[in-house]
Amino acid sequence: MKILVAVKQVPETSKVTLDEKTGTMIREGVTSIVNPLDLYAVEKALEVKETAGGEITVLSMGPPGAERAIRECLAMGCDTGVLISDRKYRGSDTWSTSYVISQAISKLGQFDLLLFGERATDGDTGQVGPGVASFLGLPVLTYVADLAIVGARVQARRLVETGYENYTAPMPVVATVVKEIAVPRLPTLRGKQSSRKAKITMWDNDRIGADGSRLGLDGSPTRVVRIIRPKVAREGTRVIVKNEQTALGAVDQIMEFLEKRGVVETE
Ligand SMILES: Cc1cc2nc3c(=O)[nH]c(=O)nc-3n(C[C@H](O)[C@H](O)[C@H](O)COP(=O)(O)OP(=O)(O)OC[C@H]3O[C@@H](n4cnc5c(N)ncnc54)[C@H](O)[C@@H]3O)c2cc1C
Repeated sequence: MKILVAVKQVPETSKVTLDEKTGTMIREGVTSIVNPLDLYAVEKALEVKETAGGEITVLSMGPPGAERAIRECLAMGCDTGVLISDRKYRGSDTWSTSYVISQAISKLGQFDLLLFGERATDGDTGQVGPGVASFLGLPVLTYVADLAIVGARVQARRLVETGYENYTAPMPVVATVVKEIAVPRLPTLRGKQSSRKAKITMWDNDRIGADGSRLGLDGSPTRVVRIIRPKVAREGTRVIVKNEQTALGAVDQIMEFLEKRGVVETE
């Protein structure tokens, strides 16, 4: 079984700020971590490998420092790491990112199972997994909460608003996973030691051969037109009810408050 897990290095979310001129995230000087939601995909890949056998490749697209994110996954037990990095990719939107990742995957060969996190905590679109599946022409299962390999098929339980949906799909298949799927393990000391020495494959665009007109800000169809900070202004009022007698008066006060703001209409 050949498994690929895509992981993104993200800034610690609470510290993300946006460049209001360019519409992109300011990442300089911010500590980077493995996208926390990707660790669930890594754990599921390890569990599949433990039951069905196989090999796990971790792939990340990002700056050279994203190598650290790959090593962390190797320390957990993944087998090989690939970093795709090129200045030409800077400013890529989700469409361009998905395109580049799909091109790199095609160059790496055939995978049976391709796992993605539900979403990245910085960009937060949840589009890259399905985007890659679409470029590769593969079926995709999103929001997968449980997954098992049965013969040449994947059995999956999807989390939906009303509960769960069960699917089976032929491999190769792409799946984006939710937290419920597994509990990420901590890397072992031995894993950490060997991951430090592991050789990570570094590919730039010359190696990947992605179409130059589809890369970076110029090759991205998304345009961030304007960024605004929502103004949070609370103008609340406190209505204190001490006993049954004041309760009715309180209801009148609340209704008056809501009417003034156009939330409710009374005759
Ligand atoms: C106009 C525009 C300009 C942008 N400019 C920049 C920029 O200059 N610099 C910048 O860093 N970002 C930039 N971005 C953001 C960038 O496009 C997204 O961060 C990226 O496309 C991934 O989207 P996402 O974060 O929403 O991931 P999601 O779609 O939410 O991620 C879902 C899953 O896909 C996988 N995944 C996502 N991204 C990667 C990756 N890079 N490598 C491996 N796996 C991945 C992970 O498994 C992840 O859990 C820009 C976006 C736009 C719209």
